Amino acid sequence: MTPTAGDGPTVAVVGSGASGLAAAFHLHRLGHRVEVIEAGEVPGGRFGIDRLGDKPVMTGGKNIGRRYDLFRAFTEAMGDHPYMPFGINASRVENGRVLTLDSDRRLRSLAHFARMGSPRDMLRLVRLARAIRADRANGYLGSPLFTELAQANDHEPLSKQFGERVTRVLLRPMVIRNNGAEPDEVYLGTFGTNLAMLLDTYEQLDHGIEPVLAAFAERVPVRLNTTAVAPVVRDGDVVGLRLSERGGPVQTREYAAVVLATTAHAAADILRGEFPALAKRLAEPTYFPSTVVLVEYDRPFFRTDVRALAMDDGPCTNAGSYGMDERHIVRYTFSGRQGRARELTDDLVAAWVDDAERRVSGHLGLTPGRRVRSVVRHWPAAYCGYTPFHGEFLAGVHQLVGDVPSLALAGDYLRGVSIEGCFRAGHEAGARIAARLAEGRP
Ligand SMILES: Cc1cc2nc3c(=O)[nH]c(=O)nc-3n(C[C@H](O)[C@H](O)[C@H](O)COP(=O)(O)OP(=O)(O)OC[C@H]3O[C@@H](n4cnc5c(N)ncnc54)[C@H](O)[C@@H]3O)c2cc1C
Repeated sequence: MTPTAGDGPTVAVVGSGASGLAAAFHLHRLGHRVEVIEAGEVPGGRFGIDRLGDKPVMTGGKNIGRRYDLFRAFTEAMGDHPYMPFGINASRVENGRVLTLDSDRRLRSLAHFARMGSPRDMLRLVRLARAIRADRANGYLGSPLFTELAQANDHEPLSKQFGERVTRVLLRPMVIRNNGAEPDEVYLGTFGTNLAMLLDTYEQLDHGIEPVLAAFAERVPVRLNTTAVAPVVRDGDVVGLRLSERGGPVQTREYAAVVLATTAHAAADILRGEFPALAKRLAEPTYFPSTVVLVEYDRPFFRTDVRALAMDDGPCTNAGSYGMDERHIVRYTFSGRQGRARELTDDLVAAWVDDAERRVSGHLGLTPGRRVRSVVRHWPAAYCGYTPFHGEFLAGVHQLVGDVPSLALAGDYLRGVSIEGCFRAGHEAGARIAARLAEGRP
């Protein structure tokens, strides 16, 4: 670990996921000393770095849109980290026909689905998609357009905004994939983030995120196994953190400023004692769980033209190839209402995988090979489902944080759950702290 840039006081960034990386990267590039504090044993948060046998794998976010500008600028600055194509390709079975929603063939895919909705529904969706194309800010949380739409519509959930069929066939797979939520658990005011995902084209890092994180850790120190318990506050401003390493005694460290780059709920836990009003607001967004199982087979499972199957009749909402050329590894995602277990046991997960494998084989007429090995990852707070009237929620949070000059927030609840949304939030938090530190300079 080499010392970070600059010789001034250090800024702490709590969380080494996409949001924290973006905040730390921005501050580091501007010449500030930064230290990343991470409770986990490994960095990366919901990128989910893990192992399947000896193979480094990711059990979390790995699809990178061509429009993920901030994330791509980050990986480029970290060295040579090539991408390979991986369109979001999810088929579903409707009346015995396999329909494929493919981000690389959007128009043809949408035309398939268009026949399922009423003209009013489809026109509305096209209008929203056009608004996002015209101004990419509409694909992130907090845009004026979607804040206004929320005022008129967020008294009722998304499921009440569109017809039953288009909700089931088109909207549900989108909100399940992005939010782990059912259409009656999310709102039109945040739907721009979902549509934006559909309008992008996806790739994956050839070697996953691990080499990028290693290159980052050479530039900015990352303290693993260290939990931020509470801020240290003086005269109403944050001047440090109370930290516990490996569950040991709490120690105080002074920092020039602090960025909390965690889920809204984790930030609420850290802030509750010192900033109860802010913590109360941060407890508002909903989070939904997900369980991801990667199973390696002794031969390819999926075909090249059908690489994933979205399902709405069980706990498994999506099963798909791990990569274009890794069709022998299947990633099963268990989410949505039926994929939430009160008590998740090994037996239950095994039964879920058996059931999912049977369904995929049955639907697509594929025969699975022999299972070689698997890895299971449960995310209790996998995806943020936001709040109704989310623009107002954000305004409230920004107002309260505005009263604490040396504190900034980043996370999936500010700009959206996509990796690029988190990067935007992190970048903005870094910019806020940089501006604050510039004020203090002679
Ligand atoms: C299964 C899954 C698949 C996904 N797929 C995609 C995809 O393909 N493409 C896409 O764009 N998005 C995807 N996403 C969404 C995206 O990956 C996440 O929204 C994003 O990675 C979240 O980043 P974050 O930094 O905000 O939060 P996190 O990654 O959760 O990072 C927060 C970090 O803070 C740490 N932390 C929390 N509390 C403390 C504390 N008190 N002290 C110290 N550290 C603390 C945590 O350990 C964690 O590492 C997916 C998400 C999941 C769960």
